[in-house]
Amino acid sequence: MDIKRIVVGPIEVNCYLFVSGIELAVVDPGDEAEKIIEEIGKLGKVDYKYVLLTHGHYDHVMAVNELKDKYGFKVVIGEKDADISGMNAQIGVQTPKTKVDITVKDGQVLDFGGQRIQVLETPGHTIGSVSYLIGTDLFSGDTLFRHTHGRTDLPGGSDEDMGDSLEKLLKLNEKINIHPGHGEETTVEEEREFFKNHQF
Ligand SMILES: [Zn+2]
Repeated sequence: MDIKRIVVGPIEVNCYLFVSGIELAVVDPGDEAEKIIEEIGKLGKVDYKYVLLTHGHYDHVMAVNELKDKYGFKVVIGEKDADISGMNAQIGVQTPKTKVDITVKDGQVLDFGGQRIQVLETPGHTIGSVSYLIGTDLFSGDTLFRHTHGRTDLPGGSDEDMGDSLEKLLKLNEKINIHPGHGEETTVEEEREFFKNHQF
C-alpha cells in the first residue's frame, strides 16, 4: 500500500493517490489534472477504481471530469453533497457538471484492492462531508486538519455538526494516520492530545 500526496490548485488542496493491491483510488482531485495524470503515469500498471470526494466544494473537484474521462474511475461522494454544481453556485462559483457514480452514507463499505473503504459521515464543513477510512489511513477532507478544523460558515456548515464529527474522528484508533484536505498530515493520537487543550 502506498499513498502519494499532490498539492493542487490556488487553494492548495491535498489530492492523494492511494494504491491497494493493484487498484488505485484518487482522493479529491481538486485541480491541475495534468499534474495528477503525470503522477498516475509513474505508478505503472494499476486498475483505475475510484475518485473519492470528501465533499463537493469546487477546490476539491475541478479535475474530476478529466480523470474520469481518461481512466474511467467511479466517482464517489456523500449523498448530501451529490449536487456539486448546486452547492458551488450557492457560494458563487461555477463548476463543470460533474458526473457522480456512487453516493455513499455513514457506515457504507466499498471494496478496494482486497481492503475495505469505510465511509464515515462527518458533516460540519458541508452537510454531506464524509471521511474515508482505509485500514489505518483516514482521509478527513475539510473536517479535521492538523491542529484545527474546517470552516463552518459556508452554506450547509454547522458548528454543532463539526463538534460531533471531530469527536467521532478522535474516537478512532490512535494509530490511524490522518490525511487532511489541506496542510500537513497528522495522527488520531496527536489530534486527540491537541484537542484536549483546545476547544473545537
Ligand atoms: Zn471545502
